[in-house]
Amino acid sequence: MIDGGGFSRILRALHAAGALTRSDLGTATGLNRSTVATIVNELVSVGLVEEGAGSSGGVGRPSLMVRAVPDSVAVIGWDIRADSSTAIVEGLGGQILHRWSKTHRRGSTDPYEVAARVVAGSSEIAEELPDHVMWVGIGCAMPGIIDPGGEPPRSTVHRAPTLGWVDTPFGVIVSAALHERFGSDVPVVLGNDANLGAMAEWTRGAGKRSRVMVFVSGDVGIGGGVIVNGETLTGASGFAGEIGHIRFDPQGAACRCGARGCWETVIGLTSIVSSAGLDPLTAGINDVLEAAQSGDDACQSALTNAARAVGQGLAPVVNMVNPDTIVLAGHLEVLLAHYRHTIIEELRFTLSRESTDIRLVGPSLGTDSIVVGASELAFDRALERPQRWLASTESLRSE
Ligand SMILES: [Zn+2]
Repeated sequence: MIDGGGFSRILRALHAAGALTRSDLGTATGLNRSTVATIVNELVSVGLVEEGAGSSGGVGRPSLMVRAVPDSVAVIGWDIRADSSTAIVEGLGGQILHRWSKTHRRGSTDPYEVAARVVAGSSEIAEELPDHVMWVGIGCAMPGIIDPGGEPPRSTVHRAPTLGWVDTPFGVIVSAALHERFGSDVPVVLGNDANLGAMAEWTRGAGKRSRVMVFVSGDVGIGGGVIVNGETLTGASGFAGEIGHIRFDPQGAACRCGARGCWETVIGLTSIVSSAGLDPLTAGINDVLEAAQSGDDACQSALTNAARAVGQGLAPVVNMVNPDTIVLAGHLEVLLAHYRHTIIEELRFTLSRESTDIRLVGPSLGTDSIVVGASELAFDRALERPQRWLASTESLRSE
Protein backbone atom coordinates (compact mmCIF):
# COMPACT_ATOMS: atom_id res chain seq x y z
CA MET A 1 0.00 0.00 0.00
CA ILE A 2 1.40 3.40 -0.99
CA ASP A 3 0.79 6.36 1.24
CA GLY A 4 -1.04 9.40 -0.12
CA GLY A 5 2.12 11.51 -0.08
CA GLY A 6 3.43 9.64 -3.12
CA PHE A 7 0.27 10.36 -5.10
CA SER A 8 0.46 13.99 -4.06
CA ARG A 9 4.07 14.33 -5.19
CA ILE A 10 3.52 12.59 -8.54
CA LEU A 11 0.38 14.60 -9.31
CA ARG A 12 2.03 17.89 -8.34
CA ALA A 13 5.01 17.15 -10.60
CA LEU A 14 2.73 16.24 -13.51
CA HIS A 15 0.48 19.24 -12.93
CA ALA A 16 3.50 21.57 -13.00
CA ALA A 17 5.17 20.01 -16.04
CA GLY A 18 2.21 18.59 -18.00
CA ALA A 19 4.25 15.56 -19.06
CA LEU A 20 7.37 13.79 -17.78
CA THR A 21 9.18 10.51 -18.33
CA ARG A 22 8.98 7.99 -15.48
CA SER A 23 12.62 8.60 -14.68
CA ASP A 24 12.12 12.41 -14.57
CA LEU A 25 9.14 11.77 -12.29
CA GLY A 26 11.43 9.87 -9.98
CA THR A 27 13.93 12.73 -9.96
CA ALA A 28 11.22 15.35 -9.42
CA THR A 29 9.55 13.49 -6.56
CA GLY A 30 12.41 11.61 -4.90
CA LEU A 31 10.43 8.36 -5.21
CA ASN A 32 12.04 5.12 -6.35
CA ARG A 33 11.30 3.45 -9.68
CA SER A 34 8.92 0.83 -8.43
CA THR A 35 6.90 3.32 -6.39
CA VAL A 36 6.66 5.64 -9.41
CA ALA A 37 5.56 2.68 -11.57
CA THR A 38 2.89 1.55 -9.10
CA ILE A 39 1.45 5.05 -8.68
CA VAL A 40 1.51 5.81 -12.41
CA ASN A 41 -0.26 2.52 -13.16
CA GLU A 42 -2.92 3.33 -10.63
CA LEU A 43 -3.38 6.87 -11.99
CA VAL A 44 -3.63 5.44 -15.53
CA SER A 45 -6.33 3.04 -14.34
CA VAL A 46 -8.46 5.89 -12.96
CA GLY A 47 -7.89 7.99 -16.08
CA LEU A 48 -5.89 10.86 -14.56
CA VAL A 49 -2.77 10.22 -16.58
CA GLU A 50 -1.86 8.40 -19.78
CA GLU A 51 1.37 7.04 -21.15
CA GLY A 52 2.56 7.35 -24.71
CA ALA A 53 5.52 8.04 -26.93
CA GLY A 54 7.09 11.43 -26.28
CA SER A 55 8.33 13.74 -29.00
CA SER A 56 11.87 12.63 -29.58
CA GLY A 57 14.27 15.50 -28.96
CA GLY A 58 17.14 13.82 -30.79
CA VAL A 59 18.24 10.52 -32.23
CA GLY A 60 17.30 7.23 -30.65
CA ARG A 61 14.16 5.76 -29.23
CA PRO A 62 11.72 8.35 -27.85
CA SER A 63 11.10 7.69 -24.19
CA LEU A 64 7.66 6.93 -22.82
CA MET A 65 5.99 10.05 -21.48
CA VAL A 66 3.55 10.16 -18.60
CA ARG A 67 0.97 12.86 -19.32
CA ALA A 68 -1.69 14.50 -17.21
CA VAL A 69 -5.14 14.08 -18.80
CA PRO A 70 -6.39 17.71 -18.83
CA ASP A 71 -10.12 17.01 -18.56
CA SER A 72 -9.86 14.26 -15.95
CA VAL A 73 -9.82 16.56 -12.94
CA ALA A 74 -10.27 20.30 -13.07
CA VAL A 75 -10.73 23.39 -10.95
CA ILE A 76 -12.43 26.73 -11.51
CA GLY A 77 -10.38 29.86 -10.88
CA TRP A 78 -12.36 33.04 -10.25
CA ASP A 79 -11.29 36.68 -10.39
CA ILE A 80 -13.93 38.52 -8.40
CA ARG A 81 -14.10 42.30 -8.72
CA ALA A 82 -16.53 45.04 -7.83
CA ASP A 83 -17.80 45.32 -11.41
CA SER A 84 -16.99 42.00 -13.07
CA SER A 85 -16.37 38.30 -12.55
CA THR A 86 -14.05 36.25 -14.72
CA ALA A 87 -13.42 32.54 -14.48
CA ILE A 88 -11.39 29.87 -16.20
CA VAL A 89 -11.45 26.11 -15.96
CA GLU A 90 -7.96 24.72 -15.58
CA GLY A 91 -7.34 21.03 -16.07
CA LEU A 92 -4.68 18.83 -14.52
CA GLY A 93 -1.42 19.81 -16.21
CA GLY A 94 -2.32 23.48 -16.50
CA GLN A 95 -4.36 23.57 -19.70
CA ILE A 96 -7.17 26.15 -19.83
CA LEU A 97 -10.30 24.25 -20.83
CA HIS A 98 -12.92 26.98 -20.71
CA ARG A 99 -13.38 30.71 -20.13
CA TRP A 100 -16.30 32.61 -18.68
CA SER A 101 -16.86 36.24 -17.79
CA LYS A 102 -19.62 38.65 -16.91
CA THR A 103 -19.78 42.31 -15.98
CA HIS A 104 -22.30 43.58 -13.47
CA ARG A 105 -23.31 46.88 -12.06
CA ARG A 106 -21.05 48.38 -9.44
CA GLY A 107 -22.48 48.50 -5.96
CA SER A 108 -24.02 45.02 -5.68
CA THR A 109 -21.32 43.66 -3.41
CA ASP A 110 -23.40 41.85 -0.81
CA PRO A 111 -21.32 38.72 -0.04
CA TYR A 112 -24.36 36.43 -0.48
CA GLU A 113 -25.11 38.01 -3.87
CA VAL A 114 -21.50 37.67 -4.95
CA ALA A 115 -21.50 34.03 -3.77
CA ALA A 116 -24.71 33.40 -5.73
CA ARG A 117 -22.92 34.72 -8.84
CA VAL A 118 -20.06 32.29 -8.30
CA VAL A 119 -22.50 29.39 -7.90
CA ALA A 120 -24.59 30.36 -10.94
CA GLY A 121 -21.45 30.90 -13.03
CA SER A 122 -19.93 27.59 -11.87
CA SER A 123 -23.13 25.85 -12.85
CA GLU A 124 -23.06 27.40 -16.34
CA ILE A 125 -19.41 26.47 -16.68
CA ALA A 126 -20.01 22.86 -15.58
CA GLU A 127 -22.77 22.55 -18.21
CA GLU A 128 -20.22 23.39 -20.92
CA LEU A 129 -17.79 20.65 -19.97
CA PRO A 130 -18.03 16.87 -20.36
CA ASP A 131 -19.75 14.89 -17.60
CA HIS A 132 -16.62 12.91 -16.71
CA VAL A 133 -14.69 15.99 -15.45
CA MET A 134 -14.11 15.64 -11.72
CA TRP A 135 -14.24 19.01 -9.93
CA VAL A 136 -11.67 19.14 -7.18
CA GLY A 137 -11.66 22.77 -6.13
CA ILE A 138 -12.60 26.38 -6.60
CA GLY A 139 -10.10 29.20 -6.11
CA CYS A 140 -11.25 32.81 -5.78
CA ALA A 141 -8.96 35.78 -6.32
CA MET A 142 -10.28 38.62 -4.17
CA PRO A 143 -9.46 42.33 -4.28
CA GLY A 144 -8.50 42.31 -0.62
CA ILE A 145 -6.48 40.87 2.22
CA ILE A 146 -7.14 37.22 3.05
CA ASP A 147 -6.86 35.85 6.57
CA PRO A 148 -4.28 33.05 6.21
CA GLY A 149 -5.77 31.17 9.18
CA GLY A 150 -9.38 30.38 10.02
CA GLU A 151 -11.41 27.21 9.60
CA PRO A 152 -11.00 26.14 6.91
CA PRO A 153 -7.81 28.18 6.33
CA ARG A 154 -7.93 30.98 3.75
CA SER A 155 -11.72 31.24 3.72
CA THR A 156 -12.14 34.73 5.21
CA VAL A 157 -11.64 38.11 3.54
CA HIS A 158 -10.07 40.24 6.23
CA ARG A 159 -10.45 43.52 4.38
CA ALA A 160 -11.62 44.39 0.84
CA PRO A 161 -12.15 48.16 0.43
CA THR A 162 -13.62 48.00 -3.10
CA LEU A 163 -16.22 45.47 -1.90
CA GLY A 164 -16.73 47.13 1.48
CA TRP A 165 -16.01 43.85 3.32
CA VAL A 166 -14.42 43.42 6.73
CA ASP A 167 -13.81 39.91 8.13
CA THR A 168 -16.28 38.36 5.69
CA PRO A 169 -16.26 34.50 5.66
CA PHE A 170 -16.79 34.46 1.91
CA GLY A 171 -15.25 31.00 1.37
CA VAL A 172 -17.68 29.48 3.85
CA ILE A 173 -20.62 31.33 2.25
CA VAL A 174 -19.66 30.06 -1.24
CA SER A 175 -19.11 26.49 0.06
CA ALA A 176 -22.54 26.44 1.69
CA ALA A 177 -24.21 27.82 -1.46
CA LEU A 178 -22.39 25.26 -3.65
CA HIS A 179 -23.43 22.48 -1.31
CA GLU A 180 -27.04 23.60 -1.46
CA ARG A 181 -26.98 23.79 -5.25
CA PHE A 182 -24.98 20.68 -6.12
CA GLY A 183 -24.99 18.56 -2.98
CA SER A 184 -21.22 18.21 -3.22
CA ASP A 185 -18.39 19.56 -1.12
CA VAL A 186 -15.90 21.11 -3.51
CA PRO A 187 -13.26 22.95 -1.46
CA VAL A 188 -13.25 26.74 -1.87
CA VAL A 189 -10.05 28.66 -1.14
CA LEU A 190 -9.43 32.41 -1.30
CA GLY A 191 -6.34 34.40 -2.23
CA ASN A 192 -5.36 38.01 -2.76
CA ASP A 193 -5.65 38.84 -6.47
CA ALA A 194 -2.20 40.39 -6.93
CA ASN A 195 -0.49 37.65 -4.89
CA LEU A 196 -2.18 35.04 -7.06
CA GLY A 197 -1.22 36.87 -10.25
CA ALA A 198 2.34 36.97 -8.96
CA MET A 199 2.35 33.26 -8.19
CA ALA A 200 0.91 32.39 -11.61
CA GLU A 201 3.59 34.42 -13.38
CA TRP A 202 6.23 32.73 -11.24
CA THR A 203 4.88 29.22 -11.87
CA ARG A 204 3.82 29.42 -15.51
CA GLY A 205 4.76 32.86 -16.83
CA ALA A 206 7.34 35.64 -16.96
CA GLY A 207 8.84 34.86 -13.55
CA LYS A 208 9.82 31.25 -14.23
CA ARG A 209 13.27 30.49 -12.80
CA SER A 210 13.33 33.85 -11.00
CA ARG A 211 14.57 33.84 -7.39
CA VAL A 212 12.95 37.04 -6.21
CA MET A 213 10.10 38.42 -8.27
CA VAL A 214 7.97 41.51 -7.74
CA PHE A 215 4.59 41.65 -9.48
CA VAL A 216 2.71 44.94 -9.70
CA SER A 217 -0.72 45.01 -11.29
CA GLY A 218 -2.31 48.26 -12.31
CA ASP A 219 -6.00 49.00 -12.47
CA VAL A 220 -7.97 51.60 -10.51
CA GLY A 221 -5.91 50.37 -7.57
CA ILE A 222 -2.34 49.09 -7.59
CA GLY A 223 -1.84 45.54 -6.32
CA GLY A 224 1.44 43.89 -5.56
CA GLY A 225 2.89 40.49 -4.83
CA VAL A 226 6.40 39.38 -3.93
CA ILE A 227 7.60 35.82 -4.55
CA VAL A 228 10.80 34.72 -2.82
CA ASN A 229 12.16 31.33 -3.85
CA GLY A 230 8.72 30.17 -4.89
CA GLU A 231 6.91 31.36 -1.77
CA THR A 232 4.51 34.28 -1.62
CA LEU A 233 5.68 36.82 0.92
CA THR A 234 2.53 37.13 3.04
CA GLY A 235 3.84 38.87 6.14
CA ALA A 236 2.68 38.33 9.70
CA SER A 237 -1.00 38.98 8.99
CA GLY A 238 -1.35 38.68 5.23
CA PHE A 239 -0.81 42.12 3.76
CA ALA A 240 2.84 42.06 2.73
CA GLY A 241 3.29 43.20 -0.85
CA GLU A 242 0.59 45.91 -0.71
CA ILE A 243 2.90 48.05 -2.79
CA GLY A 244 0.10 50.38 -3.90
CA HIS A 245 -0.14 51.79 -0.38
CA ILE A 246 3.49 52.75 0.05
CA ARG A 247 3.42 56.45 0.94
CA PHE A 248 4.59 58.25 -2.15
CA ASP A 249 3.62 61.86 -1.51
CA PRO A 250 2.76 62.93 2.06
CA GLN A 251 0.96 66.00 0.64
CA GLY A 252 -0.86 63.92 -1.94
CA ALA A 253 -4.49 62.95 -2.42
CA ALA A 254 -6.52 60.92 0.08
CA CYS A 255 -6.38 57.19 -0.61
CA ARG A 256 -9.31 54.77 -0.26
CA CYS A 257 -7.26 52.92 2.39
CA GLY A 258 -7.59 55.94 4.69
CA ALA A 259 -4.01 57.20 4.29
CA ARG A 260 -2.79 60.06 2.14
CA GLY A 261 -0.54 60.14 -0.93
CA CYS A 262 -0.26 56.37 -1.47
CA TRP A 263 1.51 55.29 -4.66
CA GLU A 264 -1.82 54.24 -6.21
CA THR A 265 -3.21 57.76 -5.85
CA VAL A 266 -0.49 58.77 -8.34
CA ILE A 267 -0.11 55.81 -10.73
CA GLY A 268 -3.60 54.29 -10.43
CA LEU A 269 -5.44 54.28 -13.75
CA THR A 270 -8.08 56.86 -12.80
CA SER A 271 -5.39 59.24 -11.49
CA ILE A 272 -3.45 59.09 -14.75
CA VAL A 273 -6.56 59.54 -16.88
CA SER A 274 -7.78 62.47 -14.74
CA SER A 275 -4.43 64.24 -14.81
CA ALA A 276 -4.43 63.85 -18.60
CA GLY A 277 -7.67 65.83 -18.59
CA LEU A 278 -9.83 62.90 -19.79
CA ASP A 279 -12.92 61.44 -18.13
CA PRO A 280 -11.86 58.52 -15.91
CA LEU A 281 -15.34 56.99 -16.21
CA THR A 282 -15.06 56.54 -19.96
CA ALA A 283 -11.39 56.77 -20.96
CA GLY A 284 -8.64 54.20 -20.47
CA ILE A 285 -4.86 54.16 -20.76
CA ASN A 286 -4.97 53.63 -24.53
CA ASP A 287 -7.05 56.79 -24.99
CA VAL A 288 -4.40 58.77 -23.11
CA LEU A 289 -1.69 57.12 -25.18
CA GLU A 290 -3.39 57.86 -28.50
CA ALA A 291 -3.96 61.51 -27.57
CA ALA A 292 -0.33 61.80 -26.44
CA GLN A 293 0.90 60.31 -29.69
CA SER A 294 -1.12 62.81 -31.69
CA GLY A 295 0.50 65.66 -29.79
CA ASP A 296 -1.74 66.40 -26.77
CA ASP A 297 0.53 68.07 -24.19
CA ALA A 298 -1.54 67.21 -21.11
CA CYS A 299 -1.66 63.55 -22.09
CA GLN A 300 2.05 63.44 -22.86
CA SER A 301 3.03 64.90 -19.50
CA ALA A 302 0.49 62.71 -17.65
CA LEU A 303 2.16 59.61 -19.09
CA THR A 304 5.74 60.83 -18.56
CA ASN A 305 4.96 61.79 -14.97
CA ALA A 306 3.25 58.45 -14.36
CA ALA A 307 6.21 56.53 -15.82
CA ARG A 308 8.59 58.54 -13.63
CA ALA A 309 6.42 57.84 -10.58
CA VAL A 310 6.39 54.12 -11.44
CA GLY A 311 10.21 54.10 -11.38
CA GLN A 312 10.38 56.25 -8.24
CA GLY A 313 7.98 53.95 -6.40
CA LEU A 314 9.77 50.80 -7.54
CA ALA A 315 13.18 52.07 -6.39
CA PRO A 316 12.57 51.54 -2.63
CA VAL A 317 10.99 48.17 -3.40
CA VAL A 318 14.15 47.22 -5.29
CA ASN A 319 16.26 48.31 -2.31
CA MET A 320 14.03 46.37 0.04
CA VAL A 321 13.72 42.98 -1.67
CA ASN A 322 16.41 43.03 -4.39
CA PRO A 323 14.35 41.36 -7.13
CA ASP A 324 15.80 39.80 -10.28
CA THR A 325 12.46 40.19 -12.09
CA ILE A 326 9.74 42.84 -11.93
CA VAL A 327 6.49 42.11 -13.76
CA LEU A 328 4.28 45.11 -14.54
CA ALA A 329 0.69 44.23 -15.44
CA GLY A 330 -2.46 46.08 -16.50
CA HIS A 331 -1.98 49.69 -17.57
CA LEU A 332 1.53 49.61 -16.08
CA GLU A 333 2.48 47.17 -18.84
CA VAL A 334 1.33 49.77 -21.38
CA LEU A 335 3.49 52.41 -19.65
CA LEU A 336 6.41 50.00 -19.68
CA ALA A 337 6.01 49.34 -23.39
CA HIS A 338 6.15 53.05 -24.25
CA TYR A 339 8.16 54.65 -21.41
CA ARG A 340 10.61 51.93 -20.41
CA HIS A 341 13.54 54.33 -20.54
CA THR A 342 11.87 56.80 -18.13
CA ILE A 343 11.02 54.04 -15.66
CA ILE A 344 14.54 52.57 -15.76
CA GLU A 345 16.13 56.00 -15.35
CA GLU A 346 14.51 56.25 -11.90
CA LEU A 347 15.70 52.77 -11.00
CA ARG A 348 19.28 53.99 -11.20
CA PHE A 349 18.69 55.57 -7.79
CA THR A 350 18.91 52.26 -6.00
CA LEU A 351 21.71 50.51 -4.18
CA SER A 352 21.80 47.89 -6.87
CA ARG A 353 24.62 48.88 -9.20
CA GLU A 354 23.30 46.17 -11.48
CA SER A 355 19.77 47.54 -11.50
CA THR A 356 19.96 47.45 -15.27
CA ASP A 357 20.13 43.67 -14.85
CA ILE A 358 16.66 43.59 -13.35
CA ARG A 359 14.30 42.01 -15.84
CA LEU A 360 11.50 44.53 -16.21
CA VAL A 361 8.77 42.77 -18.17
CA GLY A 362 5.05 42.48 -18.82
CA PRO A 363 3.13 39.39 -17.69
CA SER A 364 3.49 36.48 -20.13
CA LEU A 365 0.05 35.15 -19.18
CA GLY A 366 -1.43 38.45 -20.33
CA THR A 367 -4.73 39.18 -18.66
CA ASP A 368 -4.94 35.58 -17.38
CA SER A 369 -2.36 35.91 -14.56
CA ILE A 370 -4.94 36.33 -11.80
CA VAL A 371 -7.41 33.63 -12.86
CA VAL A 372 -4.56 31.19 -13.49
CA GLY A 373 -3.25 32.04 -10.00
CA ALA A 374 -6.69 31.34 -8.52
CA SER A 375 -6.77 27.98 -10.33
CA GLU A 376 -3.28 27.10 -9.13
CA LEU A 377 -4.36 27.90 -5.58
CA ALA A 378 -7.31 25.51 -5.93
CA PHE A 379 -5.05 22.80 -7.37
CA ASP A 380 -2.52 23.37 -4.62
CA ARG A 381 -5.20 22.62 -2.03
CA ALA A 382 -6.60 19.66 -4.01
CA LEU A 383 -3.20 18.05 -4.55
CA GLU A 384 -2.28 18.22 -0.86
CA ARG A 385 -4.31 15.09 -0.20
CA PRO A 386 -5.56 13.71 -3.53
CA GLN A 387 -6.74 10.50 -1.87
CA ARG A 388 -9.70 12.52 -0.53
CA TRP A 389 -11.16 12.83 -4.01
CA LEU A 390 -9.40 10.06 -5.95
CA ALA A 391 -11.94 7.52 -4.78
CA SER A 392 -15.00 9.70 -5.27
CA THR A 393 -16.69 11.12 -8.32
CA GLU A 394 -17.95 14.44 -7.00
CA SER A 395 -19.74 16.35 -9.69
CA LEU A 396 -20.73 19.98 -9.98
CA ARG A 397 -24.10 18.99 -11.34
CA SER A 398 -27.45 18.81 -9.69
CA GLU A 399 -28.79 15.29 -9.29
ZN1 LIG B 1 -3.56 53.75 0.36
